[in-house]
Amino acid sequence: MATSKKAGRKPARLSSHSTGKTKQKTASESASRGASKAPTRFEKKIIALVYDFDGTLSPRPMQEYAFLPKVGVDAGEFWKETNKIAREQEADPLITYMHLLYKKAKAAGVRIDREDLVAQGRQVELFQGVSEWFDEIADYISLRSESKGVSIRHYMISSGLTEIIEGTPIYDRFDNVFASEYWFDAYDLPYPKRVITDTGKTQYLFRINKGVEDLGKTINQHMPEAERPIPFSNMIYFGDGDTDVPSMAVMRKNGGHAIAVHPPGKSKEKCVDLFRAGRIDFFAAADYRRGSDLFKRTCLLLDRMLADIRVQEEIWAVTRSLR
Ligand SMILES: [Mg+2]
Repeated sequence: MATSKKAGRKPARLSSHSTGKTKQKTASESASRGASKAPTRFEKKIIALVYDFDGTLSPRPMQEYAFLPKVGVDAGEFWKETNKIAREQEADPLITYMHLLYKKAKAAGVRIDREDLVAQGRQVELFQGVSEWFDEIADYISLRSESKGVSIRHYMISSGLTEIIEGTPIYDRFDNVFASEYWFDAYDLPYPKRVITDTGKTQYLFRINKGVEDLGKTINQHMPEAERPIPFSNMIYFGDGDTDVPSMAVMRKNGGHAIAVHPPGKSKEKCVDLFRAGRIDFFAAADYRRGSDLFKRTCLLLDRMLADIRVQEEIWAVTRSLR
């Protein structure tokens, strides 16, 4: 078993190597100051867009593009078997899928290590406009933001595999990526190091909200709302269905926002259910190009957030002047 390469495993969080990221660095600095006493300026000016991956940014589960074909396993059969084992063993299907993936590879005599998974990420298909989305949203924010210093961050929370995501062309666009991950040299077969289940995803929403993104630190410590660097009202969660319901519920119950997407030209039934149940603000086809319904509806929510930030900043300034 190859030794896992720790360097590079870390997401491109607040990295300064990509162009145009300096403002995010500033945002990070202000976030860390947000926890300190008596800030000298209004600091809740970070907006966070949080995305599910499979079905939201990419049409199919990421394992279907390269891993399953490589080991000669039919995707439909694979997920069926995963769910069957989960039911029979009363196990979490996210754990059974991670185990079965490598059991199938071993049975086929195919050795897949960390580097292979990263390489597989290059074959993952993205919905139209995803690659340009990050710059388009940044443009929109800088165009509309009359409150100086507003910055935007992008986060991913996925039950898929960190290494595959790392190989996708959009990996560097995320300030942080929280995804399931293997411990490659643990045993004979790679062992799940971190499994992100549907409900487990909500933990990472609180990590973003509280600014506790270091996974070595506990998230359970109490933090007063006033000290949390990114309020839920400054967050939008993007998901595609049932597996996102816990995250959408957490967002909406805490004053945050949620948008559901469906494959362009295909059934939007699930989205309509989520909309009717009040779990989301909007739904749209997963078309991320500027001018699409998804882009327009996201911008509407951003407009509201930007207005709220200006109102809160003014209240903060008035309050401070009364001291
Ligand atoms: Mg999904």
